Amino acid sequence: MSGIIEVQNVRYAYEEGGALAVNDVSFTVEEGEFTAILGRNGSGKSTLAKLLNGLYQPDSGTVLVRGMSTADETHIWDIRQTAGMVFQNPDNQLVATMVREDVAFGLENTGVATEEMPGRIESALRAVGMEAFMDRAPHLLSGGQKQRVAIAGILAMRPRIIIFDEATAMLDPAGRREVFDTVERLNREGITILWITHFMEEAARCRRIHVMDGGRIVLSGTPSEIFADAEALRDLRLDVPAMKQLADRLQAQGIPVSGDVLQVEDMVREVKRLAAAI
Ligand code: ADP
Ligand code: MG
Repeated sequence: MSGIIEVQNVRYAYEEGGALAVNDVSFTVEEGEFTAILGRNGSGKSTLAKLLNGLYQPDSGTVLVRGMSTADETHIWDIRQTAGMVFQNPDNQLVATMVREDVAFGLENTGVATEEMPGRIESALRAVGMEAFMDRAPHLLSGGQKQRVAIAGILAMRPRIIIFDEATAMLDPAGRREVFDTVERLNREGITILWITHFMEEAARCRRIHVMDGGRIVLSGTPSEIFADAEALRDLRLDVPAMKQLADRLQAQGIPVSGDVLQVEDMVREVKRLAAAI
């Protein structure tokens, strides 16, 4: 079976003959997956995101979204509606004076019947827990709330995939958690998620990780597989999640913490287990 996103040997340079921002990248995303693209600044993540929804065309290779090639102009609107994008800065994505208008904004360009809009807007805001803010001014919301409204704007278009490009990078820890929890819920409801980030803790919560460096995918695997190789990550100037480092150090001291600790919840589980055995 083919994936909902199929990327094959994609290359892209911003200038002809210039450095490749995306260099021979291939991967598949299956429908319903929650995939992270992890990499430090300049590794090519945003360029890849723009190739995925047809904002950029590959210099070579192919990008297929639900079987549609981004190189085929007749599919471009269908592709953008299928794969919505949420960006880093919520303030650049909200333009209206009322939350409901912002959610309506994308819909107005997609040919959805006017009478269908209020229902779509309401259910999109409900899906991100922002229905009570429908008549509020977006600029008065917190960063996390603004991103949830931006997500609602994408949801109203009924996408199958949402690509998040560092969507929590400008938020405080509470806002980051609030947005990530919302996205996990959307994934459980069946939306395919591509989560682009430089935060290890977030990547650790995804089901599959592709690590980018210098425009290439240099590592792929489950979070346990990726974070097991601390040295490879250090070479890529990425950090191992703090809880994994703590678990490794405790193990080195002879404390039998399980090898799969990546997140705070995992450590809580292990500490409880060890405490119960005393
Ligand atoms: P990331 O999102 O991982 O930080 P980017 O995809 O933004 O990485 O950048 C990948 C490479 O492409 C970097 O070397 C960056 O300097 C270059 N780049 C990004 N945007 C542009 C642009 N608009 N024009 C020229 N070069 C760019
Ligand atoms: Mg970027």
